[in-house]
Amino acid sequence: MYYRTQNENGSYNTRCLDCLLTIAFSVESEKELDHLEARHLCPEKALAQLLAQHRAAEAHAARN
Ligand SMILES: [Zn+2]
Repeated sequence: MYYRTQNENGSYNTRCLDCLLTIAFSVESEKELDHLEARHLCPEKALAQLLAQHRAAEAHAARN
């Protein structure tokens, strides 16, 4: 999830709502925003994924 805002001069900013990091500011086009957002490696999402994997492994271990 990303939160986009537009500046007075028409350029865009975008912020990741998961880690609250500003990914880009004063970007000329929405196409560029798409590109920059796709390139963002979110630490929050990676952490959530890691925790989910850990929980799944623990649940598996508990069953055996
Ligand atoms: Zn992020």
